[in-house]
Amino acid sequence: MSLDLERRDTIAAVATAQGAGAIAILRVSGPQTDAIRDRIFAPRRPGPFVSARLRLGDLVTTAPAAADAVRDRLLDEVLCAWFAPGQSYSSESMVELHIHGGPVNVARCLRAVLDQGARLATPGEFTLRAFLGGRLDLAQAEAVQQIVGARSLAEVQLAQRALRGAIGDALQPIERALVELLAEVEAQLDFPEDELPPAQRAERTAIVARLTQQIQQQCASATTGARLCRRPRVVLGGPPNAGKSTLFNALCGSDRAITDAVAGTTRDVLEVAALVDAVEVTLVDTAGLQPSAAGVSGEAMRRARHAAQDADLLLLVFDGARPLDDSARHVLQEATPDRLHLANKIDLGGHAATLAALGPDALAVSALTGAGLAALRQTIAQRLAPAQAAIDLDWIVINERHAGLLEQAATALRDAGSALAQQQPDEVLALELRRALLALSAIVGGDPTDQVLRSIFDRFCIGK
Ligand code: GDP
Repeated sequence: MSLDLERRDTIAAVATAQGAGAIAILRVSGPQTDAIRDRIFAPRRPGPFVSARLRLGDLVTTAPAAADAVRDRLLDEVLCAWFAPGQSYSSESMVELHIHGGPVNVARCLRAVLDQGARLATPGEFTLRAFLGGRLDLAQAEAVQQIVGARSLAEVQLAQRALRGAIGDALQPIERALVELLAEVEAQLDFPEDELPPAQRAERTAIVARLTQQIQQQCASATTGARLCRRPRVVLGGPPNAGKSTLFNALCGSDRAITDAVAGTTRDVLEVAALVDAVEVTLVDTAGLQPSAAGVSGEAMRRARHAAQDADLLLLVFDGARPLDDSARHVLQEATPDRLHLANKIDLGGHAATLAALGPDALAVSALTGAGLAALRQTIAQRLAPAQAAIDLDWIVINERHAGLLEQAATALRDAGSALAQQQPDEVLALELRRALLALSAIVGGDPTDQVLRSIFDRFCIGK
């Protein structure tokens, strides 16, 4: 992709997903937008365009080949919205045409727009123009992409917050403090013979320490952010032959995992996206968590343990119709994250001592007959819900580029702290403060290179 940073020609693209759909939206943005609109859109009622108001009319082609047959000039009955410069998504004059969906119709209508001199937009080009036009900062532009590609409810919530400028708002006071400190240090550079009073040195040290701490806290939030921005992982674990694979199949509604009456059939970790009571999850089936397994099965066991540790919810499945054996007891004692005990095979009758050992919160189910599965689905959804909602109001880092820049800023500030502690020349301090400032300002924009912009906007879809 070549980024059109200078040449502001007129671009067009389909903004809606490909394939059959009731409606598709064509977008046009750039200096020729109004002229193209007037050539291809014939409104039902005469009158001037009002920004952001939908008008009914016909999309027509002015292609000479079709000019003799008026009937064939009519491409589609459409709604047209025009957005004045400064009031549009891209910040330029923009038109959105709501046309009938379906690949053939959409391609024909897009062709008509392109025939009028618009160029097919590159990925993310409308958003790039919004950034270049100053309507969105870089972090907000990235948030747009993150909303579109969100894998969890939490990611949507956090990206929506970022789109509203939460990141710029959070960074502003930190940047302001840095700018003030830097200005003071730089002013002093002109008077190297003046010894800095101890009180002023202590104040600088305190400011640098406070800013370092704030940025480090922000860096630390990236771990939480990464977790929140994935589909929650529901991992099935437990002793061999308890019915994990059968339950896995029952929950994801297909025969993905092979079940067998012989212990240890599931040699690897199996993952599938599943909808559990309207919550999208990644369902993970693991090998039986037997202790002291060796060879292939030992490796599978390690992967199973890793999957269990990485779970947002661990479903520990036991054979509820039999006494707990050694491996079941071992599994029960292992320390794991958030977990739910399941007494499976309840169709064979519950074993009282086993049910007691699994605790009062355990659910009795039968993966084979489906008994108790509705309650299980409900419980899974409930158990995952608080984790999704427990996003506090601060900015949580959900973007790797931001995390990297925050790390850079934190390193620079730690070095600034060392420079102060070691009473190094103020030039060193100024240099580190400038480095920190540069890294922070790059989060919302600063002066991004082509390469940075390309790496961000390449991930977008065409039409966004
Ligand atoms: P895994 O090793 O824990 O994955 O266990 P599987 O899912 O392979 O099941 C082991 C055996 O238990 C198979 O023969 C299953 O048909 C059987 N099984 C699984 N769930 C149930 C259940 O709810 N009731 C009964 N009666 N048998 C079950």
